[in-house]
Amino acid sequence: MSKAKKLNFDILTIFPEMFPGFLGFSLTGKALKEEKIEINTHNIRDCAFDSHGSVDDTPFGGGAGMVIRPDVLGKAIDKLKLNKLGEKNSKIIYMSPKGKPLTQDRVKSLSKEENITIICGRFEGVDERVIEHYDVEEISIGDYILTGGEQAAMILIDAVTRLLPNVLGSSESLDEESFENNLLEYPQYTRPSVWNNRKVPEILTSGHHKKIDEWRKSKSVEKTKEIRPDLYNKYLDLQE
Ligand code: SAH
Repeated sequence: MSKAKKLNFDILTIFPEMFPGFLGFSLTGKALKEEKIEINTHNIRDCAFDSHGSVDDTPFGGGAGMVIRPDVLGKAIDKLKLNKLGEKNSKIIYMSPKGKPLTQDRVKSLSKEENITIICGRFEGVDERVIEHYDVEEISIGDYILTGGEQAAMILIDAVTRLLPNVLGSSESLDEESFENNLLEYPQYTRPSVWNNRKVPEILTSGHHKKIDEWRKSKSVEKTKEIRPDLYNKYLDLQE
């Protein structure tokens, strides 16, 4: 029998003990246990050239903070023997506020990979030459600044893992979720049907499936238009 495909994550970090963190729980915890994903951490400090384990230095040109050195990080990447160096083909990603924003489409395409290497920055980030030298893709999880790339990496891993085959239960549908067709999901309701004098929209208890679908679609469109005009415009473009 052929072995089920596994998605392997190699994480370059100065805080390996942060992993698996919240990924050890719930659906991602189960995926780890069932070996649908594997998370291997590699401490960048182990590649330092001095006895203190220094990984950073002051920026050329001046300015605040510290930058992760290219020689130290490069040594850590080389140790993984990726791509041109031979043993393993892997995408190399640097979690970075300067990257392209992560979208559900990118998450989907990443879920088809076999190996993903993620560089987690700290301080002011990493020396730019590393990004050029290893053809690294920079990915941002949003327009705000975190203290480190580990949190961002875990979010990427979480989003990718739930799309792997048999990670979500069969009853959980992926194709009606937010961002499918550039729409946010419609509002959801469950029991009790009246709560604090608030009734569930009548249509949902009518049993009329076609009408329910139409209602949900119109709510999706309404919500998207109000909250995310950028997505709504994409939705309109694709309708044409
Ligand atoms: N000085 C940098 C920010 C450094 S924050 C700048 O202005 O662009 C420290 C590290 O946290 C970064 O190297 C990156 O790995 C991570 N990080 C911070 N915000 C992030 C975001 N929005 N998405 C992904 N990674 C982020």
